[in-house]
Amino acid sequence: MRRVTDCLFCKIVAKEIPADIVLETDRALAFRDINPQAPTHVLVVPKEHFRDAAAMAQADDGWADEVLKAGHAVAEQEGIAESGYRFVFNTGAAAGQAVFHVHLHVLGGRDLTWPPG
Ligand code: 5GP
Repeated sequence: MRRVTDCLFCKIVAKEIPADIVLETDRALAFRDINPQAPTHVLVVPKEHFRDAAAMAQADDGWADEVLKAGHAVAEQEGIAESGYRFVFNTGAAAGQAVFHVHLHVLGGRDLTWPPG
């Protein structure tokens, strides 16, 4: 898997930095956000490094599919699949992306308002 040496989420994937892991597949890792914005707030990352959702989608080799499927599996595992949940990919600094290893936010467990800030 391609990784970037100084990437926080590559280090979590490599288990060099601890995280509260809730799901792991061959190609994706899901762990709880350190600063949760909802009762369930899990981040799903591809094990391969892509800087954002656009780069992952353009790679066109199943990574985006794997992350979405893992996100839904997390929602089921967390018991929020029926009540409703939100997938978010912040893409670019202006959209609020702070960590440049693509990650899917899986949010649920409370009423979520729209539009987001
Ligand atoms: P972004 O703003 O890039 O879409 O989301 C980055 C997310 O990563 C934030 O929600 C933030 O709380 C979370 N985060 C930042 N550092 C860590 C960390 O070291 N561990 C975990 N589990 N989450 C982190």
